[in-house]
Amino acid sequence: MSSSNLKDLALSALQFSYSPYSKKRIGSAVLLSNGKTYSGCNIENASYGGTVCAERVAIWKAYSENKSDVKITEIAVSSESESPWPPCGFCRQVIAEFATPDTKITLVNPQGASKDYLFKDLFPAGFGPENFKV
Ligand code: ZN
Repeated sequence: MSSSNLKDLALSALQFSYSPYSKKRIGSAVLLSNGKTYSGCNIENASYGGTVCAERVAIWKAYSENKSDVKITEIAVSSESESPWPPCGFCRQVIAEFATPDTKITLVNPQGASKDYLFKDLFPAGFGPENFKV
């Protein structure tokens, strides 16, 4: 799976976004260390707290079918903003559970904008599973 294919998966996921309240369609796709990919979109709820971001939908799909020793090697996040949106803080915490510091995070939009980050740069000094090992 190339990075451009993962971006395409994230962009394709925009079509399923259920976002009647924010009107902001978001998509995501994750590539696991075993080569499998999963995509997701944001799914909003009339009770706003029930809303789930695209990244978490993709991650929960992935980890409902894979063991946690499989890591996320790359995540693509798509939005329709001129400057593609990054994962929110809540999603960064969830990503920390299954990613590595070097997991690549790519932000894209349908117009072709693309920004790459390493997870360690988006979640510096974050809390995660490693904290339970000391
Ligand atoms: Zn989020």
